[in-house]
Amino acid sequence: MMHRIFLLGPQGCGKGTQAAILSERLRIPQFSMGGLLREAAAGTDELAGRIRAIQESGELVPGTVVAEVLRARLDKPDCAEGYILDGFPRNQDQYDSYAKHDKPTAVIVIQVPREVSIERIAHRSRIEHRTDDTPEAIRRRLEIYDQDTEPMINNYREQGLVREVDGVGTVEEVADRILGMCTKQGGC
Ligand code: AMP
Repeated sequence: MMHRIFLLGPQGCGKGTQAAILSERLRIPQFSMGGLLREAAAGTDELAGRIRAIQESGELVPGTVVAEVLRARLDKPDCAEGYILDGFPRNQDQYDSYAKHDKPTAVIVIQVPREVSIERIAHRSRIEHRTDDTPEAIRRRLEIYDQDTEPMINNYREQGLVREVDGVGTVEEVADRILGMCTKQGGC
């Protein structure tokens, strides 16, 4: 089966960690939109500098840039058998642009209470030193999630594609929940 799995949830819900585990089990590549954009931002051209500044503010990178960076990744041969994408789409425009070409096979939404999200981001900042893990950028990313991303997910809820997962617990516990869902009827 061709999987096109989207992983969504607020910052700190564990999307990236769970995407990596699922990728190993299903033997398909995984990548995050934030990571692809960080790679694009590593260059020295003007666009790279612009992406970097936007990421550091916690705002969303413009949809045209996102679409181009994502298309280039999905066109690589390793995606032919499927892929797992975390952090996309984050708003209605991105939903529409992907929907023109394709439809995910499942959208896994990892739910965690806000306190858990904030605690995990704080923990991650101490380890990874991400330049966009400032209090202001974190606040802005969570705000965008509530205002734009969460309502956008309703499109997928209406299509019966959403698999809601409780993200509270150990990495292994959450991974078992996701794998359990993926192997059930309806799958992912
Ligand atoms: P993340 O690694 O998911 O926390 O994303 C880090 C940053 O990358 C975000 O705050 C945005 O600036 C940018 N970004 C990630 N995914 C998207 C997306 N789907 N659309 C626009 N910007 C994004």
